[in-house]
Order: sequence, then structure tokens, then C-alpha cells
Amino acid sequence: MENTTLTPGLYIVATPIGNLGDITLRAAEVLRGCDHVLAEDKRVSAKLLRHLGASKPMTAYNDHSDAADRARIVERLGREAVALVSDAGTPLISDPGYKLVRAAREAGIAVHTLPGPSAAIAALTLAGLPTDRFLFAGFLPPKAKARAEAIAEVGAVRATLVFYESGPRLGDTLEALRDALGARDAAVVREISKLHEETVTGPLVELAARYAKAGPKGEIVVVVGPPADAAEASDEELDSALRTALASESASRAAATVAAALAVPRKRAYARALELAGR
Ligand code: SAM
Repeated sequence: MENTTLTPGLYIVATPIGNLGDITLRAAEVLRGCDHVLAEDKRVSAKLLRHLGASKPMTAYNDHSDAADRARIVERLGREAVALVSDAGTPLISDPGYKLVRAAREAGIAVHTLPGPSAAIAALTLAGLPTDRFLFAGFLPPKAKARAEAIAEVGAVRATLVFYESGPRLGDTLEALRDALGARDAAVVREISKLHEETVTGPLVELAARYAKAGPKGEIVVVVGPPADAAEASDEELDSALRTALASESASRAAATVAAALAVPRKRAYARALELAGR
């Protein structure tokens, strides 16, 4: 389809992570209407385009693309509407793209994003673990020492942790998580939106034992609940922090400050701040 409506610039297009039905209306519109597609793997994206009844000139944009490639792409972005897609999900999320976005911005090029599927967010919705604060840690390093260091770095963060993983490495990863993080609840979320979608939840100790011998097939997200001390603050702790904050701040500001400091939902902090302020 000829581009009659899209203005030149970079269009970051999220694509399905399994079920083609998850393509958004806007994503389909831009992929059909753009002048050019930058694809992580041209064969993978050609299939998606075929599914949409489209065929576009494509250039590979992946981890091997360098500054010279970006300069050529930026030059194209000045005159064409160019869609950036990865093999699946949202480009830039454990996928190439941020350097291209930066280069485009530096050149004054318009950058648009078309939000859509991402495995990290989809896994969080399935895991049944706290979602008010989460840290997306991407892929852990493959080597044991570097992996242990990376886990130690994020282990103390008062947030749910999200890791991307593959079947063959799952057992080692769960073992390393169990060794470093102990008794936390976790979830192994697999093949989201595909035929064999599966979510297995339990303490890290159980999950590590379950997957010790052989990892399952397919694409995997591991979600680990926050440390025990990140359990929500008690009413007494909340009241005490709010009283201090209310001495110098409005109820709304005090609630925001305390909600961030104690990692409690802002709604809860605000409701209590209003009560303490006598309103
Ligand atoms: N950009 C993608 C996104 O937004 O989700 C992620 C790309 S990353 C290279 C690929 C990893 O995402 C996989 O190894 C797996 O951990 C996760 N992933 C992708 N699709 C998935 C699916 N359908 N189910 C579970 N995990 C998936």
C-alpha cells in the first residue's frame, strides 16, 4: 500500500509475542502504510507483513548495526515513514533500537511509538505477584559468576523482579535465584499467548527443584516477588511517617512523599493522610 498519510519519521511498532491477533489496529495501519521497514530479522518480519497483506522494502536493524548504518537510516527518516520492528514484542525492550531513537532525535526527526505487546508486562499480569513496583532486569548473564553478581545487584531492590529467559538456561537461573534470594515467591511464565501458554507459581525453592533436570521448551519470563521486608508498611508505620510529613506538607504532597518512601499505594497513603489531617 502506498504511503498517503504517514509523515516522514521513525515509527516504533510493537508486534505480537505469539498470537498474531494481538497486532494493534495502529500497528497494522503503520506497517501497511509506511515506506520502509527496519527489521531485526527480515524473514521474521516478512511473515508478519504477509499476514497483513503488505510487502515493504526492508533493511536489517539489529545488534550488529553500527553508527554508519544509523547515519544512513537517519538520512532516510528525513524523507520517509520508517517502521522499526523486532522479531516479537516491543522494540528496544531487550531488543535493539535505543541508539537509533537517540540518533533520530539528535537529527530533529519525529519519533512515534505504537504501544503493544511486551512479554515482561504480559508476564507480570499472569504471575500474581505485586505489580506496584517492578524492576525489569532483562536477560541475566550466561556465566555463573556474572549471573550471581547481577542477581546480587538487584536482589535488595524492594520490587518484583522480571527476567527474560530461555528453556535450556531456566534450571541454572532458578538455582542461582534460589541461592541468592531464598524463599521468595516466583512465577515461571512460558509461551504467552501461544498454544502451550503456562504459568507455574511457587517459592523459588520449589521452582528450582521442578526445573532442575530439564528446562521446558519455548520462551520464558521469570518473575520473582519482592523481598519479605518489602511487605506493605503497617498502619502504625504509615501513620507515623504521615504525621511527620503532614507537619510540613499538604495531605496530597505528604501522601506522595510517604507512598514513595514506604512503597505503599498512593491511594492508601492519601486516604489515611486525609483522615489524619482531620478532613
Ligand atoms: N522485545 C520483546 C518484548 O517486548 O517482550 C522481548 C525480546 S527478547 C529478545 C525475547 C525474550 O522475551 C524471550 O527470550 C523471552 O524471555 C521473552 N518472550 C518473548 N515472547 C514471549 C512469550 N510469548 N512468552 C514468554 N516469554 C516471551
